[in-house]
Amino acid sequence: MTENADATGTDVSRRRVLQAGGTALAGLTFASSASAHESDAERGRGADASGRGAVDRTLIEDGIVVSVDPDIGVQYGADVLVEDGRISRIEADIEDADADVIDASDAVVLPGFVNTHLHTWQAGVRGVAGNWTFLEYLETMLGEISAQYEPRDAYLGNLFGAVEQLNAGTTTVLDWFHIANTPRHTDAAIDGLADAGIRALFAHGPPGDDSATWWEDSGVTHPDDIRRLHEERFPSEDGLLSLAMGIRGPDYSTDEVVTDDIELARELGIPASMHIGSLGGGGVEKLHELGLLGDDLNYVHGNRLSAEEFALIGDSGGSLSTTPEVEMQMGMGMPALGDAIDGGAIPSVGVDIVSNVSGDMFTQNRMALQVQRALDNQPTVERGEQIQSVSLSAHRALELMTIEGARALGMESEIGSLTPGKRADITLIRADDIGTAPVHDPVQTAVFQAGVANVDTVLVDGRVVKRDGDLYNATAKRRREQLVRSGERVLRESGLLEDGRFQR
Ligand SMILES: [Zn+2]
Repeated sequence: MTENADATGTDVSRRRVLQAGGTALAGLTFASSASAHESDAERGRGADASGRGAVDRTLIEDGIVVSVDPDIGVQYGADVLVEDGRISRIEADIEDADADVIDASDAVVLPGFVNTHLHTWQAGVRGVAGNWTFLEYLETMLGEISAQYEPRDAYLGNLFGAVEQLNAGTTTVLDWFHIANTPRHTDAAIDGLADAGIRALFAHGPPGDDSATWWEDSGVTHPDDIRRLHEERFPSEDGLLSLAMGIRGPDYSTDEVVTDDIELARELGIPASMHIGSLGGGGVEKLHELGLLGDDLNYVHGNRLSAEEFALIGDSGGSLSTTPEVEMQMGMGMPALGDAIDGGAIPSVGVDIVSNVSGDMFTQNRMALQVQRALDNQPTVERGEQIQSVSLSAHRALELMTIEGARALGMESEIGSLTPGKRADITLIRADDIGTAPVHDPVQTAVFQAGVANVDTVLVDGRVVKRDGDLYNATAKRRREQLVRSGERVLRESGLLEDGRFQR
């Protein structure tokens, strides 16, 4: 199942090649070589299994650097030096003869994006939920499809779901995993993330094969397997993967379960994320009554929460993940971004499900921004007057999918901005494409003009995972047909195919 397993034995030969001089472009060399063994290099790492040893100096030269760090701001014609996985300097004209040079003279250099809510496993059932309501989704996805997932499907879903994120410039995801049908499913999903080479907070959730037990006012506490994961698998050796709990919360489980689950997360010292407020309000009030609010809690959707509830989230240091496109389609309510900001909650953006919408953060972030502006404008419009200014700025929107996302996941000291000392998670957008040139305001280019097609180069933890528009992940390339077959099998066994075609 895992590439870790079938890659053992190839490490030695790979190191030999790396030592023979394939340092800077090791990722490219392996990804493009037909004879390459499956290995970490196929995950786009270009390093040994520990993540050390290959590309330790990269110089991103002469770019428009949009740091999202208030002390650094936007710098034109600046160089970003990456050493041992961290950003070491951002200055003009850095000289480093030993570094692998990435020419960014036609690029906008951004922090890698942070997607704070993704059910990564659904990549194999891409594009089926576009006509579903929320209740239809719960009934079909969590009532039928999720039960058909085997560990192999979980692996492929997470591998491809994560690679899709990297391809679109997103370097960190919160993976909300709710098909923990067996520990093997969970291990396979974690392996999928590892083989993708993404930075992820893996939010271990409940099984997906018995939605009545786990999702309908559930009296069953979180699966014990979380203790094994905490002891044995996290944080991952390369430091890219860490653990969270995906809990049902007050909308889907009893007060006793909510209390037990949050206390367990706190005992383990890991954050917890929950869906809340998309069926009705009052959930955060309930958490408040139970004395459970805290800065380790992430709230997803939140559409029907009251202003008071957002103030409670804000006062307790919690965060919101808004996933506007899915929320608006499925009837959860209007996106709550503005309410979260007003209440002082950490505002962030997520994709939610590629079974429904595209996985790129450009789309969701822009939608989050423009929907909120429309909501803010509407009272003025209804008075028959003209607005005097827009509410949220483009720069604020860029923060939502970078530094605020990092804050929402408790990772802001390590990622979320281009700041010397932080891990080197970096996305380059081509500034000379037909849809991006000319760049008069690089922030507006990133927020309003750019899309997946303009993502040129992506680094995670200093490792190049995409360069010149090419993804470095031969594992994904080789397994793509497996993903297609996996998705077809799952849908067929869910009763959603007729004559081999999706019907719903
Ligand atoms: Zn969700």
